[in-house]
Amino acid sequence: DGQVYLARMLTYLDGIPMGKVKRHSLELMFDLGRKLGMLDESLQSFDHPALHRDFEWDLANGLNVIRENADSIDDEGFRELVKTFGKKIESRTLPQLPTLRKSTIYNDANEYNILLGGGEDIFSQNQSVTGFIDLGDVMFGYTVGDLAIAIAYAILDKPQPLSVAAEIVKGYHSAFPLTEGEISVLFDLVALRMCISACVTSKQQKSQPDNEYLVISQLPIRNTLPKWLDIHPRFAEAVFCYACGLVPFASSPHTVNWLRERTSSFAPILPIVSPLVLDLSVGSPLLHGDVNENAEPKLTCRINGLMEKAGTKVGIGQYDEARYIYTSPAFKTGDGPTDETRTVHLGIDLFAEPGTPIHAPLDGKVVAFNDNDAQQDYGPVIVFEHVMDDGDSFFTLYGHLSRESLDGLKVGKKIGKGEKFAEIGAAEVNGGWTPHLHFQVMVDLLELGCDFPGVAQPSQREVWLSLCPDPNLILGIPEEVFPERPPSKAKTLSARRERLGGNLSIAYRSPIKIVRGWMQYLFDDEGRKYIDAYNNVAHVGHCHPKVIEAAHQQISVLNTNTRYLHDNINRYAERLTSLMPEGLDVCYFVSSASEANELALRLARAYTKQKDMIVLEAAYHGNTTSLIDISPYKHNGPGGTGAPDWVHTVPIPDVFRGEYKVDDPQAGAKYAAHVKQAIDELQARGRGMAGFIAESLPSVGGQIVFPEGYLADVYRYVREAGGVCIADEVQTGFGRIGTHLWGFELQNVVPDIVVLGKPIGNGHPLAVVVTRREIAEAFDNGMEFFATYGGNPVACAVGLAVLDVLQEDDLQNNALRVGNQLLDGLKSFVGKYNMVADARGAGLFLGVEMVRDPATLEPAPSEAAFIAERLREHGILLGTDGPHHNVVKIRPPMPFNESDADFLLETLEKILTESF
Ligand code: PMP
Repeated sequence: DGQVYLARMLTYLDGIPMGKVKRHSLELMFDLGRKLGMLDESLQSFDHPALHRDFEWDLANGLNVIRENADSIDDEGFRELVKTFGKKIESRTLPQLPTLRKSTIYNDANEYNILLGGGEDIFSQNQSVTGFIDLGDVMFGYTVGDLAIAIAYAILDKPQPLSVAAEIVKGYHSAFPLTEGEISVLFDLVALRMCISACVTSKQQKSQPDNEYLVISQLPIRNTLPKWLDIHPRFAEAVFCYACGLVPFASSPHTVNWLRERTSSFAPILPIVSPLVLDLSVGSPLLHGDVNENAEPKLTCRINGLMEKAGTKVGIGQYDEARYIYTSPAFKTGDGPTDETRTVHLGIDLFAEPGTPIHAPLDGKVVAFNDNDAQQDYGPVIVFEHVMDDGDSFFTLYGHLSRESLDGLKVGKKIGKGEKFAEIGAAEVNGGWTPHLHFQVMVDLLELGCDFPGVAQPSQREVWLSLCPDPNLILGIPEEVFPERPPSKAKTLSARRERLGGNLSIAYRSPIKIVRGWMQYLFDDEGRKYIDAYNNVAHVGHCHPKVIEAAHQQISVLNTNTRYLHDNINRYAERLTSLMPEGLDVCYFVSSASEANELALRLARAYTKQKDMIVLEAAYHGNTTSLIDISPYKHNGPGGTGAPDWVHTVPIPDVFRGEYKVDDPQAGAKYAAHVKQAIDELQARGRGMAGFIAESLPSVGGQIVFPEGYLADVYRYVREAGGVCIADEVQTGFGRIGTHLWGFELQNVVPDIVVLGKPIGNGHPLAVVVTRREIAEAFDNGMEFFATYGGNPVACAVGLAVLDVLQEDDLQNNALRVGNQLLDGLKSFVGKYNMVADARGAGLFLGVEMVRDPATLEPAPSEAAFIAERLREHGILLGTDGPHHNVVKIRPPMPFNESDADFLLETLEKILTESF
């Protein structure tokens, strides 16, 4: 028709907008930075006159945008925040802008323009950037602007925005190196972009109140900007420098060198003669698992005792030590119960008598000093500034001082080398902790004055150590006084690989180095707290004081074997058999559940004079040769060579996945019929049977609860055939299932042999086989039975203490109550999330079965492993199991409480919503 038409050609990029993908892993953040760096590098050679334009989204215009539009922000607090920030960067960053590199930039890496995809497995699914779309804002501007904009959006609503930003910076720098100038303005440019967005949107919203897209980032910006501006810009810069492989605080090496050259010339802060270095690390035996035991006066007594023994008046608390004491909630960096706490000590502590005089090590000037109410608990703090020869300065900080000794001190006051300026305070003025001086060196005060932290979060350790160099540069305590540092996690791992068998498996993709346990919690070497939702061995709680005390007392007096008389073993056998059904009244003591199951086999064979055993599919009973033979989980698994001819395997009565389902009232009888069939078959082959062994609720089999009547029928068939019935209660015994003390009681049966292990000694090697007298008598055939460690006085003392605590702490009822709460919560996920197909178990013995498709029940093992990994990231430890490795297994120490259960449910739900 003679008209000219313009056609716009668009290519299609596959991917999902980042804004619609809920999980933003650190790997994704790195990849975002890297891809953006690649983009910016390739844009270096591209230019076009139209790109040189005046644009409100240009960071160079940012201040004008704030000036002109900030008033359209309705929320007064937020408006003021934006305006104040505008004023701040005017002097701080504006002058630096003209020095920055400029190039063609994308200028709009917001979360709806970044496409994600890729990933073969659940871990990497949608965790890499496949493309950037919407090039409408492309312009010629500050190259680093692209990075700042990407960070501004990627950190929205993230709990740790600086860590996220650092990862993006690291990725960007790896592809397209940043200049130091760019790194130094990055923090402000990120905030500037958030401010521009808030201003422009508030203005546009006034004219288009119904446009929802306009406000999509606004609430998150309102939440995030204040958090971002709480970070000191120089600290953020240091974090970014570290991410780029540079020294975090550029002035640090210089200060360190200056101090190192003069160490011997400083005046002593206090006389340090033959000092004793105190171990206050997370795993230090000096500290008690119960933090209340580490307060005044108990810890002071222990510390004083050690110092007295060493004949010294000064104890030293180390620099760069992750400490147990700081794992308490007061030092948390987030709201969650397992969030990182600031555990890494940045100073050196000098433990000495209250009233010990403190002297200035070198000339200085008081720059901060406080003795206000806010510091009531921790006592006064003084910070001095010291000027080096070239005019640069650094700072020293003194904490936990006595209030009375500070008379006449004020900010600005000069202090001479060697001059006394304070005394060590008593416990009352230092948070109830043992009297000591906290001494710290800082290369930058970050305008924090007396509020400068004395401990840092481990994830920022290197940055803080650069900011706060080793105070021993001033104290000059000889290096040989300090013990060797514990090996890093990486070293521990490689040493283990070197010396230990390769099939000793390690949990998690990135292994955890656990150094302390306390009740249902575990702590790693950096003080990260984990809820232990997995370890049923620490039955009454990790390091339960009563159990420890019992072991300690007995081991201090006697530990020998059963060839001599001792009352502990009798007492324990008495207590244990009183808790068993009538008829189970003879005990054998050994030291592991494998040993106990092995013995159970011998008992069955001695009594029946037969060898053959019937076992359940996917069962595991221990690590010895015969037990691998009766454990299909092992002999049918990798490296296994199948069942020997004396082992007959029957289907596991799994009413979720097996042949007969939960809605079949005859399921128990039908599964039991398979046992009958196996007996008939072996008898038809002319073989007799020794017995049947099963866990009362199979654990590695997938946390299975037998259908009603199953064991009753099975036991009847087995006994009719002359066999004995062995209950492996290693996982389920001692009240774990809540309603009963023993798992077999759920099925209303009485076994002939009961095998007890794991929880019985709360981690101490103890295992017991309980059986009927006639079986014991058949075993007593002339051959001596002796187990060197079995039933020793220490093991029995521990066993008795476990039984006491179980009762005193009412742990079986706790398992019932908390287990029901947890199971109800888990059941509510079935159907709500396609992946969660079944939740089952009893008490604190629970399993959640994950499937890819609820119709076919295709198992989801990698997804289950992913869930376990993600839970670990949130500070919850559990495992996966089952024949298909798709059952998330929950069996915590019994003190696991309601709030632990709530947190587990909340976190699991978050993971399910985020990723599936
Ligand atoms: N029986 C069952 C049911 C088990 O789960 C285990 C250990 N996982 C054992 C026996 C063997 O226990 P141990 O490793 O203490 O010998």
